[in-house]
Amino acid sequence: MPCALCHQEVELRRSHILPEFLYESLYDDKHRLQVLSISPDKSSWREQKGLRERLLCDACEQRFSIWERYASLVLKGGVELNYRSEGNIVHIAGLDYAKFKLFQLSVLWRAGVSTLPFFENVQLGKHAETLRLHLLAGAPGSSERYGCFMFGLKYQAQAFTGVIMEPGKVRLNGHAAYRFVFGGFLWAMLVSSHDLGAPLNQCTLSTTGQTVLLIRNATEMQNLISFSVELGRMGRSR
Ligand SMILES: [Zn+2]
Repeated sequence: MPCALCHQEVELRRSHILPEFLYESLYDDKHRLQVLSISPDKSSWREQKGLRERLLCDACEQRFSIWERYASLVLKGGVELNYRSEGNIVHIAGLDYAKFKLFQLSVLWRAGVSTLPFFENVQLGKHAETLRLHLLAGAPGSSERYGCFMFGLKYQAQAFTGVIMEPGKVRLNGHAAYRFVFGGFLWAMLVSSHDLGAPLNQCTLSTTGQTVLLIRNATEMQNLISFSVELGRMGRSR
């Protein structure tokens, strides 16, 4: 099997589909991962070792690890950023657009090319090849494409970091998107051949390194429609 990213016939690593750093705080004392499935025909809670498969060569793993290390620092407070809170909205400035966007794209693409049943709802079609070329070139592309809305999840006033949820397809203001839950966030990643446009493009990561987080209760996260209404209002208000 060739490497899914560079297509070289070299030995493949057992690659994590979701970034490895996320697992650090997620393993329980039995070193198993708590994975929440939302499929009605499966048991609601599953425990398994990290979601891995032979996918990438060592060189491509290294490429991804640079972006993952950066994202890990961002999510764990190890990067100097400017924060401004307005109620449930947090404005963030000072992000490295290329590194953080490539991190987001790498998660989306890996889930799309994975053959693990956990990621079966992520079907990227022609976008898989577009994303592969972006990742191979280390080129984050336009902020209008493959944008990601980030929702910080709280549960009973605590960050909701202990759960990974099976990704699913959703629609946000007429755009197809995939919803991931990991690292205490709901990530809605847009997959569309059209530019995002205003006002929603005010809520995804900009090339100047700004983004917004909407903090919501984890129990509300199935209702993404209301999230997108809120985002639209928020974009117009900036
Ligand atoms: Zn490779």
